[in-house]
Amino acid sequence: MKAELVMVGSELLLGETIDTNATFLAGELAALGIDVHFKTTVGDNWFRLMHVLSQALVRADVVITGGGLGPTMDDLTREAAAGVFGRDLALDEQAMADLERFFEQRGRAMTRNNRKQAYLPEDAKAIPNDWGTAPGFILEDNGRCLISLPGVPREMRGMFSATVAPYLAKRRGEGSVILSRSLHFSGIGESAMEDAVKDILLTQTNPTVAPYASLGTVKLRITAKAASRQLCENLIEPMEEQLIARLKPHFFGRDGISLEEALGKELRQQNATVALAESCTGGLIGHRLTNVSGSSDYFLAGFVTYSNEAKEAILNVPQALLLEHGAVSEPVAKAMAEGARLVGSTTWGLAVTGIAGPNGGSDAKPVGTVHLAAAGPDGTYHERHLFRGAREQIKDRTATAALDLLRRCLSH
Ligand code: ATP
Ligand code: MG
Repeated sequence: MKAELVMVGSELLLGETIDTNATFLAGELAALGIDVHFKTTVGDNWFRLMHVLSQALVRADVVITGGGLGPTMDDLTREAAAGVFGRDLALDEQAMADLERFFEQRGRAMTRNNRKQAYLPEDAKAIPNDWGTAPGFILEDNGRCLISLPGVPREMRGMFSATVAPYLAKRRGEGSVILSRSLHFSGIGESAMEDAVKDILLTQTNPTVAPYASLGTVKLRITAKAASRQLCENLIEPMEEQLIARLKPHFFGRDGISLEEALGKELRQQNATVALAESCTGGLIGHRLTNVSGSSDYFLAGFVTYSNEAKEAILNVPQALLLEHGAVSEPVAKAMAEGARLVGSTTWGLAVTGIAGPNGGSDAKPVGTVHLAAAGPDGTYHERHLFRGAREQIKDRTATAALDLLRRCLSH
């Protein structure tokens, strides 16, 4: 089944609003095993909207629109949808009752404009909106299908999950189940990973395997199509084993798990605790660790130390080391990690020190130079990295690399 997205709203074309709705819908459709072949963004203009919708309905089995269902003059999706299907707008009694209830519950007066929202293309199926006012709708005709959802992200997501996803799963047909599993890896770049599994990527048809990279972590998604869930599992399992075997030291978890969650699980399992010393990430590693609920069980303290004086006073980094090697160096990173471990009374101390840029680099220590250290019961491990990118990306990559270093230390 082929789908096409049409996002409606001049604000999207003016660069004022980021199109998060299309990102959400594309992800959800992929998870349903529905291919998205085109995505168009169109302004609040009747002719252009008609044009885009007619085009989309010719080449896709399902067209999903987002936005333009509101009560104001520039909201034209209802009219245009009715137009391309050659229908009039008609009152949907249930939608009107829902609208009246919405306003009554909030003690707000309903305007004539609001009533407009209860008029849907004839014979359209209303999609209830439990999060706002504008109902969506599904229009079917001769195998063509148009689904319209409002633009407000919270409403659009709620309605998609409650009504549209089950509808599409049914329309896609029984007998063909699509199942995906994601494998997550860190400490390896996208191209190194691709090299390691290239033969598999090139030859696989069912299941398919596709790589996705984000800052510092890489994901492989395995997708199988078969007559039942169990048959999909049977196709996925041997492939999963083969991929993990090839990339073993980098594998940290399945299906949407984050690196900090995986690390937290490992710390908890080993009854271990950690303290942080951050010099170029400004607390980002602590922020990421504490995004996981229950992290206070194993994350005991974080020290953000930028000046040499703070490194000395708080972490007991010897002044001589700072003077001899500079703050961005292997000996200082190690001393910071050991200091954090001691002061925090933890099993592990994890430290980063580096040059996030854009200023402050030199030939010997260019921007992006980062030293990581993890001090534990058996000694202190160190790594040097050179990251590219803007300041924020270097901070992100540093945080990911530090979390990954500790994860690998724990799995030894
Ligand atoms: P409403 O009932 O609120 O009028 P609507 O269906 O008319 O809903 P719009 O007016 O097009 O929707 O958009 C409502 C809000 O949702 C705006 O703040 C808009 O910026 C935001 N929005 C619209 N489309 C998108 C999109 N594709 N991604 C993210 N936000 C969007
Ligand atoms: Mg609008």
